[in-house]
Amino acid sequence: MTAMPLPYTDDPDTKGFWDAARERRLVIQRCAACGHCQFPPHPFCANCAHAEIEWVETTGGGRIWSFGVAHGPTLPGFQDVVPYPMIVVELDEHPDIRIVGSLVTGPEAPINSVPPSAIRIGMPVDVTFAVVSDDVTLPRWMPRIIEEAQP
Ligand SMILES: [Zn+2]
Repeated sequence: MTAMPLPYTDDPDTKGFWDAARERRLVIQRCAACGHCQFPPHPFCANCAHAEIEWVETTGGGRIWSFGVAHGPTLPGFQDVVPYPMIVVELDEHPDIRIVGSLVTGPEAPINSVPPSAIRIGMPVDVTFAVVSDDVTLPRWMPRIIEEAQP
């Protein structure tokens, strides 16, 4: 089985994201000049072009804004897990920011662990993290567990 491709974690524009993920934190960029928040990372603010960008932590909670299902053909590293869903998460605190990722039943569960038939637009999700190598910890999402109110 061919390994799944992994992201570069030392790119100057994305290093802060991967460093935070290794600490099990989901971060996005915020412009130090105008406060604009953005994801995916850019080397400058997409709103005002200021170059001073800082990383801010999010709760990682959100809702499924959209999703698709990969069937194939895929990259060789994904052949054994098709079909698998890919979701687009709208963050609770930043509804204008959407992040593509995997929906899974547990932090280390395979990316095909949630059947596409169980996925609904608007489904609440929370971030979790899978350690996949020494350098790479991947944010992914799990359906949010809603606590029943006690009478
Ligand atoms: Zn800005």
